[in-house]
Amino acid sequence: MDQVIIITGGSRGIGAATARLAAKRGYAVCINYISNEAAAQALVKEIESAGGKAIAVAADVAKEADIIRLFDTVDQALGPVTALVNNAGILETQMRVDQMDAARLTRIFTANITGSFICSREAIKRMSTRHGGQGGAIVNVSSVAARLGSPGEYVDYAASKGAVDALTIGLSKEVAEEGIRVNAVRPGFIYTDIHAAGGEPGRVDRVKSAVPMKRGGQPEEVATAILWLLSDEASYATGTFIDLAGGR
Ligand code: NAP
Repeated sequence: MDQVIIITGGSRGIGAATARLAAKRGYAVCINYISNEAAAQALVKEIESAGGKAIAVAADVAKEADIIRLFDTVDQALGPVTALVNNAGILETQMRVDQMDAARLTRIFTANITGSFICSREAIKRMSTRHGGQGGAIVNVSSVAARLGSPGEYVDYAASKGAVDALTIGLSKEVAEEGIRVNAVRPGFIYTDIHAAGGEPGRVDRVKSAVPMKRGGQPEEVATAILWLLSDEASYATGTFIDLAGGR
């Protein structure tokens, strides 16, 4: 059976590193993105010129109709998905909870929580032996923020990752007998563009002294754990977490 992977938010950062490694491991790769078509198409070209197979599909994981179209597109172009990485995630300008409004909370929770639920639903419909599928694996990209709480920065984001952790535990038990494993990675401070979205592009270098290993992480150091959890080497691992946070 062909291994087909969908990586939400695969055009940049941790998702892009995961796409590169998945292609090297022989997966046909769907790189989902929201708006940066240039980055997504450049990555498709890079994978293809290395002999791999990849497509890029624009879809907003905060929109159910977009997710349905994403999975249908992959069915047609690559075949049914066998591996899903719920990686797309957002945060907003650093602030305290007493400054947050409901519109912001809805944006964060819809993209980070609802998006992961609906993508998982579409994957399970295709993977589960209960629905005639042949099994598969899901990795959720959570964050150490789920256990640290991100005070003074984005407690809303941390709470959304707490929900992703609960999704990982509950869903892993729900589909354990249906050939699907569900696990999560919890990165710490990783060098990507996400920190600029919080208003502090240099955040990793500011906070790295609080990391026992005294450095930030690279997206590739997260991607290797994701690919391991998806692989048959992790065949008895489900509902589990790998923290990639330098000891934090
Ligand atoms: P990033 O560099 O900001 O990249 C974000 C990716 O997600 C881009 O590909 C972007 O697409 C896509 N995206 C954003 N909103 C989307 C949406 N609504 N629908 C579909 N795609 C969307 O992020 P990152 O740092 O690699 O983060 C990836 C994941 O790791 C997130 O879940 C994040 O919470 C988690 N994480 C990151 C860190 C860290 O320190 N970096 C730590 C812990 C956890 P475009 O290119 O089109 O904009």
